[in-house]
Formats: sequence, structure tokens, C-alpha cells
Amino acid sequence: MSKQNELWDDIPSYVFIELARRGMEKISLDQCFLPNCDNENKRLLEPLKKEEHDEKQYHTKIIYMKCLKCKGTYQLKFKMIKNMKKKKNDEKNNFSIGIVFAQDENGNNLGHIGYY
Ligand SMILES: [Zn+2]
Repeated sequence: MSKQNELWDDIPSYVFIELARRGMEKISLDQCFLPNCDNENKRLLEPLKKEEHDEKQYHTKIIYMKCLKCKGTYQLKFKMIKNMKKKKNDEKNNFSIGIVFAQDENGNNLGHIGYY
């Protein structure tokens, strides 16, 4: 298996977005998030590399993506917030929540995509 295919394992197929009154909706990450590009073909997307940072409260993973349709590169930024507490003093039910953002090649925020 190539390194690129392994990077796909780090990318969830879907994330969830919250709709004001209609609950949650799934959106696919198999698409280019650059403005003015409508590529939704996974075969025209190529993960290039991955960066990971681990901090006390957050685990951040940035995956660099190349779109073969618009020839642009962008980044998917996964920010996992660790050890959220459901209740006070309830350590074993701690959970994590992940938020996904799209960034352009310079790390400028293109917007919040959803939760995973
Ligand atoms: Zn594109």
C-alpha cells in the first residue's frame, strides 16, 4: 500500500454538521474545499503529508491535500478536544470531540467543516 493510501485512513469519510433546526447532516470529506472548485471525486484528490501536534487539551492533525482538478493544495485540520467531561467527577465517562476545518495552502482558515 502506498503512503498516500495510508493517509486516507486518517481522514474520516464523513463529518457531521449541525443544522439549525433539522438535526445533523453528514458531509463527505472526499471533495476539494478550495473556493471555485467543485471536485467531489476522491480519485482526483491526493493526500500529500500529515503533521500531528499533541498538547494537553488538544490533539491536532493537519493533512495536506492536493486537488488534481484545480491543481490547488489545501489542508484539512482535525482538532480533537480531549477529556471533555459529561459530569463533574465522572472521569470514566470523559469523551473527546473532534472539529474539522479547511485551510488554504498558507494555513488561512477557509471555514469550519464539521464534527467527527
Ligand atoms: Zn480543487
